Amino acid sequence: MALHIDHNARDFTRALALHPREIPAERMEQFERYIAEMFEAFGMDMSDPDVATTPHRYVRALYDATSGYEGDPKLLTVFEKECSGGPDCQLSQIIEGPIPFFALCEHHALPFHGNAYVGYIAHEHLLGISKLTRMVRLFARRFTLQERMGQQIVDTLDAMLRPHGVAVYLEAQHLCTQMRGVREVSPQTRTTFWRGAYAEDPAVRAEFLAACGPRP
Ligand SMILES: [Zn+2]
Ligand SMILES: [Zn+2]
Repeated sequence: MALHIDHNARDFTRALALHPREIPAERMEQFERYIAEMFEAFGMDMSDPDVATTPHRYVRALYDATSGYEGDPKLLTVFEKECSGGPDCQLSQIIEGPIPFFALCEHHALPFHGNAYVGYIAHEHLLGISKLTRMVRLFARRFTLQERMGQQIVDTLDAMLRPHGVAVYLEAQHLCTQMRGVREVSPQTRTTFWRGAYAEDPAVRAEFLAACGPRP
């Protein structure tokens, strides 16, 4: 049996939205000089030896925090599942979570972080549970938006597995609002994304949300 991932290679590649990066060392050093200049103007004492390598560490940390653009070769394998195409096929959900994630809001380049819950109803293909975690991180480690991140996860799973349905629930705190005191409490922003059986059947959605645990 051919893998669906081949049939949908174009959808799958588009859903991943990769942007491989090759940045020469001298360019990274240039970025560090820009950052040092900005930190100094904002109040950091750049003559203090304790912070001499802070611009270097900052640029590296930002680079690592956006490594999701590079892709993840370990995501590519799927397993075959016995499926007769009968009614039994649609019965069971595979749900993983909470999957903690850290992302950077593209409006402020500040973190938003929280938990992802991913569910799907398999048809012919299965994905190892650890791959769901990898997929969440692939889309979190970018400059992104909570909304886009969830859509990319459902679209990629859909293209990869052609399942009967996909569900993603994200809850996150956004430092861009919290650090600047726009709101005093620390609210969770919650978003849900449905495909297939989840979009069509409220009972399937309810079962998924119940499995994600009681929400405060
Ligand atoms: Zn923001
Ligand atoms: Zn099926």
